[in-house]
Amino acid sequence: MNLEYEPVIGLEVHAQLLTKSKIFCSCSTEFGMPPNFNICPICLGHPGVLPVLNYQALEFIIRMGLATNCLINEKSIFARKNYFYPDLPKGYQISQFENPVCENGYIQIENDKKIRIKRIHLEEDAGKLIHDRGNVSLVDVNRCGIPLIEIVSEPDIHSSQEAFLYLSKLKQILIYLNICDGNMEEGSLRCDANISVRPKESKKLGTRTEVKNMNSFKNVEAAIEHEINRQIELIKDGGKIIQETLLWNAELNESVSIRGKEEAHDYRYFPDPDLVPILINNEWQVKIKQSIPELPDAKKNRFCKDYNLPIYDAEVLTSSRELADYYENVVKVTYDFKTASNWVMGDVLQIINEKKISINDFSISSQNLGQLINLVNKNIISGKIAKNVFQFMLEESKEPEEIVKERNLIQITDTSEIEKIIDEVISKSPKQVDDYLSGKDKIIGYFVGQIMSATKGKANPQMVNDLLLKKLNKNK
Ligand code: ADP
Ligand code: MG
Ligand code: ZN
Repeated sequence: MNLEYEPVIGLEVHAQLLTKSKIFCSCSTEFGMPPNFNICPICLGHPGVLPVLNYQALEFIIRMGLATNCLINEKSIFARKNYFYPDLPKGYQISQFENPVCENGYIQIENDKKIRIKRIHLEEDAGKLIHDRGNVSLVDVNRCGIPLIEIVSEPDIHSSQEAFLYLSKLKQILIYLNICDGNMEEGSLRCDANISVRPKESKKLGTRTEVKNMNSFKNVEAAIEHEINRQIELIKDGGKIIQETLLWNAELNESVSIRGKEEAHDYRYFPDPDLVPILINNEWQVKIKQSIPELPDAKKNRFCKDYNLPIYDAEVLTSSRELADYYENVVKVTYDFKTASNWVMGDVLQIINEKKISINDFSISSQNLGQLINLVNKNIISGKIAKNVFQFMLEESKEPEEIVKERNLIQITDTSEIEKIIDEVISKSPKQVDDYLSGKDKIIGYFVGQIMSATKGKANPQMVNDLLLKKLNKNK
């Protein structure tokens, strides 16, 4: 990064809302249908049709606004954004310009760093052009009229890492609120980045470019990084940044200019005469506010406090609502909060990541995992055996106690039994005993290994250690 210049970034994020029907008609939003199947005269904009707002879409944007500390406007209106493009049969997109539903919010990306949100508005999606079928381009308008919210940040972001944090937070909130699936690869979450640079001491914003077409977090980071460097180098060479729209090419790690940047006036926005203003009264706002689940930051803080967990653990455990619920159900059964966290963050996450499944489809119930932890804490099995029991539990949906009994895994805590095995191992290992007596303390590991293998790992490790040392040191 260049020290003399400060990057300035504002993100425009489009999130596809999880409604069953489109925003102004009753067509289905189902993904993957045959081309031009989910369509009707309304979403195609035939003359004389009347759009009617989907109530659910409105509730979803209000949820997002409240979750990101926005002001919800009592009155907002829809506007027509006019432009000509083959994937937009109407010739205009219904969006919001003046008076969006939400304004002036913020999200916290780190303890001491807020990114302000300028506005969140409702709009409809356009269709899709398909260019990879030989000499023709095809149009699929299924996507026309799918409800989107556009979340526009203030230019408060100053590095690609901050952009990444901001996007991660947005995505997490959208998913917590259950209003968007957050899938960037499939296009339900899209991000355009506005980027400029300015001399460190300057307060004035530099000329910006807008980079589009980044379909993963990794691409957003790479594209921003690349654009910052390009701008700094250009300025240092005495060049001037021109305001333009660039497309990111992830394969070439390069961006190409597609057009000069259009301004708002190019779209000839005007209020949509077919749609009545949206009025949101306070009563409704309060009702929606009450239905908002505990959000990631609040949950994280509560986990730290209530379960006495390190911040790192709390962050991982609250990365999704489902994982957090799973953990909270485990600690209803065991009070060993930290051990429960270790199991969930370690063994459990490893398996669900490997199998690419959701925690909801994980084969070990939270109840059974809690009981497994209790078996160790009650000294019924050792921590090591618990790892084996966990493996059995993955395949058989039995209670851990049943598995332990069936397979005879109960810990040996009988002193005389353990002593007998220690004696046997000692008498078979005169050389190692000599080594130990001559000061090679590390050889203890050998003895413990032998004893554990003789007991198939079932001897209580603490007792083995204590009794073994006592016997060996007797000969010192
Ligand atoms: P438009 O409607 O032309 O896209 P906006 O003013 O609504 O422009 O801004 C769009 C996004 O660009 C916002 O996220 C804003 O923060 C960001 N932005 C505006 N000016 C700059 C700039 N000079 N440098 C970086 N980002 C900017
Ligand atoms: Mg814009
Ligand atoms: Zn329709």
